[in-house]
Amino acid sequence: MIDHCYRRLLEGGVHMLKDFFSGRKKDAAVPSEKAKKDVPEGLMQKCPNCNKIFYRKELKNNLYVCPACDFHHRLNAWERIHNLFDQDTVEEWDATLTSNNPLDFPDYEEKLAKDQSKTKLSEAAVTGKGTIHGFETAFCVMDSRFRMGSMGSVVGEKIARALENAKEIGIPFIIFTASGGARMQEGVLSLMQMTKTSIAIKRFSDSGGLFISVMTHPTTGGVSASFASLGDYNFAEPKALIGFAGRRIIEQTIREKLPKDFQTAEFLLNHGQLDKVVHRHEMKRLLSSLLLMHTEGVESHE
Ligand SMILES: [Zn+2]
Repeated sequence: MIDHCYRRLLEGGVHMLKDFFSGRKKDAAVPSEKAKKDVPEGLMQKCPNCNKIFYRKELKNNLYVCPACDFHHRLNAWERIHNLFDQDTVEEWDATLTSNNPLDFPDYEEKLAKDQSKTKLSEAAVTGKGTIHGFETAFCVMDSRFRMGSMGSVVGEKIARALENAKEIGIPFIIFTASGGARMQEGVLSLMQMTKTSIAIKRFSDSGGLFISVMTHPTTGGVSASFASLGDYNFAEPKALIGFAGRRIIEQTIREKLPKDFQTAEFLLNHGQLDKVVHRHEMKRLLSSLLLMHTEGVESHE
C-alpha cells in the first residue's frame, strides 16, 4: 500500500515537472494572468493579431512589429517620425495650428481639447522636414488617435502649407496617412480639403517635386480618395486597410459578396493600385534609396 502511494506521488511529480517544462517553453512570451497583474500598466503590450504579450520595450526595438506574427502595430505620429528620421534633424512646421468650430457643431471644441490633451498634438497631422540617411525631405505624418485621423480644415491646410514649403526649399515630400476619412464636424469644409490638397500636390509636382505616399492602417474615405493615392510612388504597410467606403455599404450597393482580403494593401497591390507593400523594417532603406535616386547630380548605386 505504501509502495503504491509512493509510486502515485512520484508519477504525479514527474507529470508536473513535464507540464512545467513543456509549458514554460511554449508560452515563454505569455505571462500568466497573475503575472500580468503584477506588471505595471504600460510595460506590456498584447498583439491584437496573435494575442501574445510582449514587453513594450521589445516591441519598440522591433519598430512595433510583432516578433511572433509580423503584425504591424499602429504607430503614433512622433513614434513614426523618430523611427524614420535621423536623430535631431526634424523641424516641425505649423505646430500650433488648431481647428475652430466653423459650423458650430455641438461638443466639437470639447472633443478637440480632449484629443489634444490625450495625444499632445494640436491636430491629426504633424508636418515638417528632416533627413533620412542624410537626404532632406519634407513630411506629413497623420495620427489616428486624434479624431480618428480625420481630415478637417487644419489637416488640409497643414498639408498644403508643407507642400508649398517643400516646393520653395526644393525638397521631396513624403506623407504617411492614417485616417478615417473626412471630419464630420466640419462637413463640407472637410470635403473641400480633398480639392485643396490635390491642387497643392499638382503645383508641387509641376515644379518637379517628388511626392511619396505611404498608406498605413487604416487609410479610408476622403483621404484615400485624395492625397493618399496621388503619390509618384504609392506604398502601404502590410495588411493595412485601405478603401473608400466600408465593405457592407459596397456589398449592399453592388449586391455581391466581396473577397475576404478586399481593401487590404496586398489586394490593392495585386490589382495595380499600389506600387509596393513595404515592411516597416524596410521602409527607411527604401525611402532613402528613392530620395537618393531623385537627388540631382547623384547617381544611384541601388
Ligand atoms: Zn502577433
